[in-house]
Amino acid sequence: MNRQGQCLCGAVRVALAAEPERVNMCHCADCQRRTGSPFGMALWLAEADVTIGGETRDFVHVSDKGRKLTNRFCPNCGSTICYTAALNPGLIAVPAGLFADPATPPPQRSVFEERRHPWVAVPDGAVRLPRGRDG
Ligand SMILES: [Zn+2]
Ligand SMILES: [Zn+2]
Repeated sequence: MNRQGQCLCGAVRVALAAEPERVNMCHCADCQRRTGSPFGMALWLAEADVTIGGETRDFVHVSDKGRKLTNRFCPNCGSTICYTAALNPGLIAVPAGLFADPATPPPQRSVFEERRHPWVAVPDGAVRLPRGRDG
């Protein structure tokens, strides 16, 4: 499977060379502010399976739990291209929205459940974690 995604303006493109190791929906405050939505959804893969083309910039910050997070974004349109968490070395999270594809696999895990807006439904069978170890 080779998924192709892009940012809103199309200047940055993302290709995945493998199926994701995991698919998360994350309700943490960082994901809410990053996306402007009540939750973020991301495909987690080994860095070697993700190819990014085009100019990007990094926003590095420390979460309220003291973890270093790096958001990579398109400097032209602001779309998040990927993010990494110091706690997950070697893995990279690619937002599901870059693919705008309803065939994207649904989340297997729902993390930061304590921040979930109560009306947001979680897919049947997804593991619910009160505090995620990642986004
Ligand atoms: Zn862009
Ligand atoms: Zn998050």
